[in-house]
Amino acid sequence: MAIQRPKGTQDHLPEGSPKLTLDTRAAAFDYVRETARRVLERAGAQRIDTPLFEEAELVKRGVGGSTDIVRKEMFTVYYFGDHGGFILRPEGTAGIVRAYLQNGWKQLPAPFKIWLCGPMFRAENVQKGRLRQFHQVDYEVFGSTDPLVDAEAIALMVDVVRELGLKKVKVKLGSIGDPEDREAYNDYLRELFTPHVERLSDDSKDRLTRNPMRILDSKSAGDQELIAELGVRPMLDFLGAEAGAHFEQVQQYLRDWNVEFDLDPSIVRGLDYYRRTAWELHHEGVGAKSALGGGGRYDGLAEQLGGAAVPGIGWAFGIERLLLAMEADGVEMPAPGGPQLYLVALDEENVPLVARLAREARAYARTEFAYRAMKVGNAFKDAERRGAVWVGLMGSEEAANGTVSLKNMVTGEQQTVGVGELATFLQKSDD
Ligand code: AMP
Repeated sequence: MAIQRPKGTQDHLPEGSPKLTLDTRAAAFDYVRETARRVLERAGAQRIDTPLFEEAELVKRGVGGSTDIVRKEMFTVYYFGDHGGFILRPEGTAGIVRAYLQNGWKQLPAPFKIWLCGPMFRAENVQKGRLRQFHQVDYEVFGSTDPLVDAEAIALMVDVVRELGLKKVKVKLGSIGDPEDREAYNDYLRELFTPHVERLSDDSKDRLTRNPMRILDSKSAGDQELIAELGVRPMLDFLGAEAGAHFEQVQQYLRDWNVEFDLDPSIVRGLDYYRRTAWELHHEGVGAKSALGGGGRYDGLAEQLGGAAVPGIGWAFGIERLLLAMEADGVEMPAPGGPQLYLVALDEENVPLVARLAREARAYARTEFAYRAMKVGNAFKDAERRGAVWVGLMGSEEAANGTVSLKNMVTGEQQTVGVGELATFLQKSDD
């Protein structure tokens, strides 16, 4: 058998590939990226690309040493003579914060908005909607703690998925407060869980000493049972006055803009640098457990990476999950069309002439040509198969007269046009 692609990766395929699904269709990825670009750049965000691999230390500090990503899912990059420490990026934020610090963006007017689109890598257990190379759209804002920035970030995430035609999306909103609020919450959780430590999973026993909040995030059914039994109070009960007021304002803006959300106390972000607002975007078609995306405020992250303090907030969604949701919702995506003009020579000696005309026509229209001469009937069949709008025939008569015989494959309309007028004709017929 020929060599296969690695498990957990996908080819993004051209139109017409057998068994094409929305989440493997190259044109669908372009469509999502262009839609995100339109929405985010209209709101003042600029695009960034960062390297696909970064220093291991950046990923460890940026994502957090206690997370599954760092403990189990990192792809390490080796090369001859290397110092042993590059990681294929598992998410976008750490690299973008590094770029912020490294490129002196602090001097730019705040809030400073940036977006990224590209592949991410995690060595996960592969299942539907969970890949080892997947793609994210990422949006980050630096330099402001204003609740208006939080609300705008959430609203923009909703705008992107709305613009893509998704309807059954739901924002689940929470706040994890300031570090001292979280400390109080962790003290409460420690007291609550310690008498039941024997019932916790091994991972959660470890979390109980290090970071009890992350127990709430546990994937273990036993842990979740215990959590339900104990009637754990939500983080929201522990918000201090400032974080509480900030959270109220975020909600107020969202209500003002008719962005629907549900308060969800189960949203926790256990890492030290997360502050205040945290949310997830869910869709019925993708299943309750797998979010389309999520976001949060991370005011402590830049310092964690060794830089000067700068507040930040951002979100990411997975393009594959979004495409699965679009498929579940039956969203129609504009299909990329065939050529506007398909030129065919009726005898071999006119092939070079149609090739030259096609090259000229490409200055103003998507144009293809047949590399071999064809009979008229075959030319029409071929043009139809390629989804061409106009087919242009070049026989000996047309060549002698300096014309092309055109037929519109959609309307059946026929025209003879001088080769010199082809440009004007196509531009007009495109209106
Ligand atoms: P995270 O960076 O873990 O908050 O993930 C943000 C979003 O990226 C998720 O909601 C998913 O849509 C997507 N995502 C994360 N991990 C994967 C994966 N292994 N495969 C496909 N999509 C993923």
